Amino acid sequence: MNKHTIGTKCVQGGYTPGNGEPRQVPIIQSTTFKYATSEEMGKLFDLEASGYFYSRLQNPTCDTVAAKICELEGGTAAMLTSSGMAASFLAVFNLCSAGDHFISCSAIYGGTFNLFAVTLKRMGIECTFISPDCTDEEFNAAFKENTKLVFGETIANPALRVLDIERFANIAHAHGVPLIIDNTFPTPVHCRPFEWGADIVTHATTKYMDGHGSAVGGAIVDSGKFDWTKYAEKFPGLCTPDESYHGITYTERFGIEGAYITKATAQLMRDLGVTPAPMSAYLLNLGLESLHVRMKRHSDNGLAVAKFLKDNDKIGWVKFPALEGDEDYELTKKYLPDGTCGVISFGVKGGRQAASKFMAALKLIAIETHVADARSCCLHPATATHRQLSDAELIAAGVGPDLIRLSCGLEDANDLIADIEQALAAI
Ligand SMILES: *Cc1c(COP(=O)(O)O)cnc(C)c1O
Repeated sequence: MNKHTIGTKCVQGGYTPGNGEPRQVPIIQSTTFKYATSEEMGKLFDLEASGYFYSRLQNPTCDTVAAKICELEGGTAAMLTSSGMAASFLAVFNLCSAGDHFISCSAIYGGTFNLFAVTLKRMGIECTFISPDCTDEEFNAAFKENTKLVFGETIANPALRVLDIERFANIAHAHGVPLIIDNTFPTPVHCRPFEWGADIVTHATTKYMDGHGSAVGGAIVDSGKFDWTKYAEKFPGLCTPDESYHGITYTERFGIEGAYITKATAQLMRDLGVTPAPMSAYLLNLGLESLHVRMKRHSDNGLAVAKFLKDNDKIGWVKFPALEGDEDYELTKKYLPDGTCGVISFGVKGGRQAASKFMAALKLIAIETHVADARSCCLHPATATHRQLSDAELIAAGVGPDLIRLSCGLEDANDLIADIEQALAAI
């Protein structure tokens, strides 16, 4: 598949049926798998042979879809998780233990911000947040002896800041740690972070990859490029024997291409069980088959609606990275030359009250805690997804109290604009 373009990989990647086998990815709806002898199964437990034994760890349907996402990102190994949050958690927890520290860009998804600032802290893992606009000096100053990774989002949800991936990767690498990128919003159709130096990519497949609002899910992909063994003292979980797994040293047994995902599967999936259902993986694959076609439409609709909003007097401000004059326009041209996504943030003049009148008057565009759906939807984060954050944290996360997040679906752009126009008239 590697010689094919991204669109062809969306349609056919990950699965090549043999003669007489199902054309569609089969749903292997089985918790367990049968073996003739205990010795054969024992080899699987010892990770000496590959094969399936229990769907909490691995399932053929899920692995087939993970293999497609791996091809799309250009990685060496990948796994699916039960949600995007599970992917972010496993991606960090696979490298950090109690007493460790990591750095995250502050412009990230609200749920991830809370995971890092509150829940991981309770587990003894400390996160320092840095602004996407920080200087190299400020960035360098955030590193500590026990820093294990740097985290950011390609296009932040809902702040829509574009991350300077190459700069973040260079600084992370200068300190001997990997860069993890949540690539949910652009998807690999519009940006492949590994091509800019990122080491691990995560996804909320719930969003554009699924694209139809049908299954919550996540994915983690390893580029296979970060050499854990060069910094073995920083990453003992990967470079020294895992006593909880028959004394395996993941980097020795699976190389730098396979160690990270194997550890996350054998150890974290085993103990935490954030496993996707095979049916969800099947639904995700249906979405992936049209991802390249849909991303263009989402992105074109986003730009058309953003242009309309920018020229309207009832709108205070518009944030859409592909809009000329946007603070991230240059980064967008560099990292997202073929398109961005369908999500726009904007503020209605008149603050909170005007915003809620506007939202109530929408007819075609629905109020939902969701984005990246085929059907357009809209949300006021300060009263919904981000309500647990203080005003200072809201501003640090790039989400002002007047911000409305609009996710342009696959409808006709003119119909979306007409709906917004009539709702603005109601203010
Ligand atoms: C939605 C989202 C998540 C969390 O995904 P869930 O599937 O809802 O758990 C993480 N990161 C980003 C960028 C998201 O948009």
